[in-house]
Amino acid sequence: MRVVIVGGGISGLVLAQGLRARGTEVTLLEAGAEPGGNIQTHRRDGFVTEAGPNSFLDREPTLRALAARLGIEDRIRTADPSAKRRYLYSGGKLRALPQSPPALIKSDLLPWTAKLRMLGEPLTRRGPTGDESLADFGRRHVGNAATEVLVDAMQTGIYAGDMEALSVAAVFPKIAQLEKRHRSLLLGMVRERKAERAAPTPAGTPATTGAVASFDGGLGVLVKALAGALGPALRLQARAVGLRRETAGWRVAVEERGQHTELEADRVVLAVPAFTAAELVRPLDTALATQLDGIAYAPIAVVHLGFAPGAVPPQDGFGFLVPAVEKRRVLGVIHVSSTFPWRTEGGRVLYTCLIGGARRPDLVELDEAALVTLAREELRLMAGVTAEPILTEAVRWKRGIPQYNLGHLGRLAAIDEGVTRLPGLFLTGNAYRGVGLTDCVREATGLVDTLAR
Ligand SMILES: Cc1cc2nc3c(=O)[nH]c(=O)nc-3n(C[C@H](O)[C@H](O)[C@H](O)COP(=O)(O)OP(=O)(O)OC[C@H]3O[C@@H](n4cnc5c(N)ncnc54)[C@H](O)[C@@H]3O)c2cc1C
Repeated sequence: MRVVIVGGGISGLVLAQGLRARGTEVTLLEAGAEPGGNIQTHRRDGFVTEAGPNSFLDREPTLRALAARLGIEDRIRTADPSAKRRYLYSGGKLRALPQSPPALIKSDLLPWTAKLRMLGEPLTRRGPTGDESLADFGRRHVGNAATEVLVDAMQTGIYAGDMEALSVAAVFPKIAQLEKRHRSLLLGMVRERKAERAAPTPAGTPATTGAVASFDGGLGVLVKALAGALGPALRLQARAVGLRRETAGWRVAVEERGQHTELEADRVVLAVPAFTAAELVRPLDTALATQLDGIAYAPIAVVHLGFAPGAVPPQDGFGFLVPAVEKRRVLGVIHVSSTFPWRTEGGRVLYTCLIGGARRPDLVELDEAALVTLAREELRLMAGVTAEPILTEAVRWKRGIPQYNLGHLGRLAAIDEGVTRLPGLFLTGNAYRGVGLTDCVREATGLVDTLAR
């Protein structure tokens, strides 16, 4: 069986490597000059910067198991233990995010009225049978004030989205399921934690830490290992520009370093953003293309500000998130040097500021110099960082993070159905069932099994 995979981000790389390891003939086409998609690690002047994702959550064994297969498990580095401390910018200042319900009750993060409302969570009624926005779900369970501060911060850190538009069942399926099973989230968590503790871990499952993690040289280590395992099966600067169905399989038209070629395949997998998949399938199935086009993306800008040793006060914790209600211009800030100390040399200090999202898409239109100025102003006002940076870098992702808005699950059903009209064509990637790296790896690994069968 010959498989052509389009898109060499983490999804396409994992799929290609998995199939190749099972003896399938694979070609992975990547339009860019480097593999990795959103993952772009750079080393410069004593700093390791990440233009896209910074870390993964080492909670389910998927990514660790992949690293073990690639022989790089020993290169995984979990975040410094101090990164368990996280902050919220709320009520005009940075406040520690309480780590447990009793700590939340004691903290000054929310007014007493909001805390009392939260204590009523076990009395929450079941929600509507149809789709519900994350904001409405939050308000039903914990009230308006806690939703504006806590729920919004939680989604901002993952989706950079608009909680009034996001579908709770699509963005936080486990939480939505918890309500289905137990009605109250609090009661559900208590009951399920007890059951989890009692259940044995299946033999051979790699031990996870539950912590935020990366690799000793940043996430690029994973990309390099995957690309290395693929060898010439990975073709860079090779853009798929057309798909044609043949009687027994597929033909993929490719623009490769100025040359036009065609590849024959028994199976084609599109591991590209949904809007690119839409362009490729449009001549074959306009209804499917319309569904794919309906998946919105939030733009996001990433600004790195690096400081000389001792120029700024030491960082504490993972960083801070900023709920929309604060009306500030940053979504959140990662304290890179305290969380991942191996990413800055000799006491240098690195802040990574996230800007834009569904909240302020206009800011991602700013040029790089203006983004750096904005990030510096916000960091000065919110965290008192006034020194002159020795490193500045701004990266704009015009269509950065897929938004699983209301109707997403219905759209997925229509997409799944549409794909069955094109036998031999498959879709994977962050547009569908999870935007995190772990989600992408899990989905692609599952597809290896489906295709290899
Ligand atoms: C700023 C930012 C921060 C993030 N932070 C985190 C984080 O800390 N932790 C986390 O878990 N997740 C994070 N994410 C999400 C995560 O990075 C992505 O969901 C994931 O990397 C997506 O991988 P993918 O392979 O599905 O898609 P992509 O990475 O988008 O890869 C798609 C690839 O397809 C290629 N391509 C497109 N068109 C064609 C074509 N016609 N022919 C050939 N190739 C083509 C593209 O060049 C690209 O390389 C972040 C995302 C962003 C943007």
